[in-house]
Amino acid sequence: MSDTSNLTIERIDVFQVDLPYSGGTYQLSGGRTYTSFDATIVRITTNTGLQGWGESTPFGSTWVAAHARGARDMRRRVAEHRASGYIGHSIKLSGDDPTTDAARIAESLADRQAGEYFIVDANGGLTVEFAMRMLRLLPRGPDFVLEAPCQTWRECVALRRRTDIPIIFDELAMDEISVTQLIADDAGEGIGMKISKTGGLTRCRRQRDLCLAAGLTLSVQETTGSDIAFAAIVHMAQTVPERSLRCILECRDMIAVTTATGDFKVTGGKVKAPKAPGLGITLDLKVLGEPVATYT
Ligand SMILES: [Mg+2]
Repeated sequence: MSDTSNLTIERIDVFQVDLPYSGGTYQLSGGRTYTSFDATIVRITTNTGLQGWGESTPFGSTWVAAHARGARDMRRRVAEHRASGYIGHSIKLSGDDPTTDAARIAESLADRQAGEYFIVDANGGLTVEFAMRMLRLLPRGPDFVLEAPCQTWRECVALRRRTDIPIIFDELAMDEISVTQLIADDAGEGIGMKISKTGGLTRCRRQRDLCLAAGLTLSVQETTGSDIAFAAIVHMAQTVPERSLRCILECRDMIAVTTATGDFKVTGGKVKAPKAPGLGITLDLKVLGEPVATYT
């Protein structure tokens, strides 16, 4: 590793890029729709000329909610992703009706293949009552984890006392304090780690170590993002032992533009981080355009 002790930051450039959604219109509960995501990309330049890149792309203006697609849509989408080589699937719930959401889960898992991993993500949108009614409508023994079932800590812990479905924290696992609380309360089996949510790779490393020490599993994700965000996801995920890593988010799948290239092709549902220095990517400066702000 090169000596970085004499590095100083000389310039920070901020770029804004609209990342069109690859599926046209992304539909959320409550009638909300997105056609693109607003990416902030940062370039840091040091006194040696060494540069580093980072990306933060929120999932729309509010990070929540669920696909408004019906159950039969959901089954087709899982089949399409399976055919593309995905082995981990995230099923979003609407929170509108327990019967519809139970059907959505059942349809999504109907063709489950050996080795596949299913996250059923409510984005904190269910009451305990709704979640219990929905889970009771499912056939016995479905193999999935329930992510972020309820909005509050109390509700999630209350639901956990009433079900044997593994529970994963996401929106409520924001920092080291909440992860420590999760462990102390024995409130779930793992977390969905998002680099932007956590506040960068250094804080992700702390959360990772807390989770591993407590025997929790992790999925490594981002709110969404392009190739820069995906490179950071892959690097972070590669530091998690395989037995504790459940999945990573292929965020590039949602984006219709390429912001950077690198040697991190997904093959058979698996991917390795590029070996080139840093994130191991080459930025497409034409896509980024001119900086919207520069600090020296
Ligand atoms: Mg989630």
